[in-house]
Amino acid sequence: MKIIVPVKRVVDYNVKVRVKSDGTGVETAGVKMSMNPFDEIAVEEAVRLKEKGVATEIVAVSLGVAACQETIRTALAMGADRGILVETDVDLQPLAVAKLLKAIVAKEDPKLVILGKQAIDDDMNATGQMLAALLGWPQGTFASKVVIEGDALTVTREVDGGLETLAMTLPAIITTDLRLNEPRYASLPNIMKARKKPIETVKPADLGVDPAPRLTVVSVAEPPKRQAGQKVGSVAELVQKLRTEAKVI
Ligand code: AMP
Repeated sequence: MKIIVPVKRVVDYNVKVRVKSDGTGVETAGVKMSMNPFDEIAVEEAVRLKEKGVATEIVAVSLGVAACQETIRTALAMGADRGILVETDVDLQPLAVAKLLKAIVAKEDPKLVILGKQAIDDDMNATGQMLAALLGWPQGTFASKVVIEGDALTVTREVDGGLETLAMTLPAIITTDLRLNEPRYASLPNIMKARKKPIETVKPADLGVDPAPRLTVVSVAEPPKRQAGQKVGSVAELVQKLRTEAKVI
C-alpha cells in the first residue's frame, strides 16, 4: 500500500512571526523555515505503518518554491522513500494545493493520503477536507489514533465532549492532530541516506492545474499590543476600576 504525505515548508514554530512593513503578508526573508509540525506527525504515522508492514511505500510531496526540497529531504530522513516537488513561485492557497494533490493522487494511485490538520502559517485547516471532496474519498480529520486492517480504516478523533471513532474504507484521507504520535528525530545516518533518495520535480502546468489564487488578501496586521498592567491600592479601588474602566473585549 502506498501512502502520500504532503509536507509544507512553513516559518519555524520557534520564530516570532513579523508582518512585512507593507502589510502584504508575513516576513519570510532570512527567517528559519521548517516542516509544518502537523506534517511531521503525518510522516511519523506513515513510517510507523510501514514499519508494521501495512504500508510499502511513502511518497512525501511538497508544493511551493524550490527550497521546499529541504522539507522533502527532512521527510526522507525520517523514513519516506521518495519525494515529489511541485515547484511554483505562486502563493498557493488550499484549493490550489488540493487540486495539485488530486493530480498527484491520479498519477501515483495511493491508498492513503495523510496530511496535517492545519499549516501553522495561515491556519487554513482546509486542504485535507478539500482533497477528500475533490477525490470523493472518505476523510478522518484531526486523527488521534489510526488503525488499519486490510481495507478497513478506523480513525479516532477528539471532539467536544469526548472521542469519536469513524470507520471507513480505503482509499481515504487522514489529517493529523497533535496527540496522534510523537515524531522521531532523524538520525545522522538516515540524514545521509536521505541525500540519495530520489526527488522528482514537476510544475503545476505538467499536472494540468492553474494554481492562481482565488482569494485576495486585503491586509495583514499584527495583533494590537497589550497594554501594561496596573497595580491598585485596595479592593475598593479595584472594584471601582472594574465598574468604570474595564471593558469586555
Ligand atoms: P492548511 O489547509 O493550509 O491548513 O494545510 C493542511 C495540510 O495540507 C498541511 O498540514 C499539509 O499536510 C498540507 N499542505 C498545505 N499546503 C501545502 C503545501 N504547499 N505543500 C505541501 N503540503 C501542504
